[in-house]
Amino acid sequence: MRRSPTRRACSVAVLAAVLLGSCGRTDPHPSVQRHADAPLSAVVRQDMRSVAAFWRRKMPVLYGDDLDPVERIVAYRGSTPRTFPRCNGVLADASSYVDNAIYCRLEHVIAYDAEGFERMRADHGPLAIGVVVAHEYAHAVQAQAGERGATLGLELQADCFSGAWAATGTAARSKAPADLDAALRSLLDGADAGGSLVDDPEGHGSSFDRVAAFSDGFHAGGSACLTYDTDPPLLAPIASVGTPRWDGSIDSLTDALGTFWSTQGSRSVAAVTAVDDEHPDGCGSIGASTVPALCIVGGVVRYDDARLRGAAGRWSVGYPVAAAYGQVALAQPDTGSKIGASRIALATDCAVGAFVAAAASDPIGEVRTDRRDLDEVVQAMAGFDPADLRPNRDGDVSLLDRVEALRVGVRGGLDDCAITGAG
Ligand SMILES: [Zn+2]
Repeated sequence: MRRSPTRRACSVAVLAAVLLGSCGRTDPHPSVQRHADAPLSAVVRQDMRSVAAFWRRKMPVLYGDDLDPVERIVAYRGSTPRTFPRCNGVLADASSYVDNAIYCRLEHVIAYDAEGFERMRADHGPLAIGVVVAHEYAHAVQAQAGERGATLGLELQADCFSGAWAATGTAARSKAPADLDAALRSLLDGADAGGSLVDDPEGHGSSFDRVAAFSDGFHAGGSACLTYDTDPPLLAPIASVGTPRWDGSIDSLTDALGTFWSTQGSRSVAAVTAVDDEHPDGCGSIGASTVPALCIVGGVVRYDDARLRGAAGRWSVGYPVAAAYGQVALAQPDTGSKIGASRIALATDCAVGAFVAAAASDPIGEVRTDRRDLDEVVQAMAGFDPADLRPNRDGDVSLLDRVEALRVGVRGGLDDCAITGAG
């Protein structure tokens, strides 16, 4: 990600293919195709108009002031340094410009890497551009409002405001869940590594915090963002980075999940077994046209380590295994042909959050977690294709809702994960 002490900058890095191994398997949403041929500059201008309209309405309500609109948004090319604009009167190092968008306070202008935006549009769909524009526009609003919080608080506040914009009807395009999820994945590309912490003076926020901030704005509106500048709702229980953290052993994870769920009087999981060369058809009995990488048969969670393992670190396997374990523990019958409706998926995501938070407070067996684990879970969620879990994708829920469910579990524990309330 790109950071600069002199500018508010938001990475729009195009690491999607690296970070999110499943992108290539996601069907392009129709609205992505609809905008695929539109000139980028037209899309950006349309987003600017939409965001400006949002702030004309909200500025008086939230800050008691009329908006001083950003009139200019300028493009440059990340591969061509001579196109870089001066920002706040200076020309910064090249790395601050590439794959980036910037609000320049002195010039009262937003600048963006057109090449980076094109890649972002290709990877993450049209709404991703609007989310970034709304984030940068929020920095202009902060400047007008005299916000003086720490960088992290202001960055998360900008994400929160971006979410508030994304929830409005002013953007003249689809707000389909697929578009929103794709835009969120773009946001994750710009997140700090999970190990960077609250006191990082230039931090943009972890994956969990960035999506959580966006979710706050999306669900509760701009007023929910006002205290972010000085008091961002970070996760105190998981603020510390502990060592050693979970080592990625599925055996130790399985043991810890057993311990965690046994205190709930839950139905026990008979076994968690890897599908390997000796059991290549471990999930084949559920009758899918394609054999999923993870299934539950007879109370046994079976998983294909090689297929699940992705770029989200150890939790690219740990997350789906923990979610499947939670599904059994929540006393769902053997699902065979399909795992769960959306409310069950949300309850299990909530339970994963409760588990990760519990293991951060006190080790469970050999599993101890910290913020890096929580971030990897979010990245694993973003990269995980539910089609790997079950052949029937009906009842899929959005990434935004799943992260929200995770957050409920992290904050409230398992008691807040009731299936009946998650639907
Ligand atoms: Zn920013």
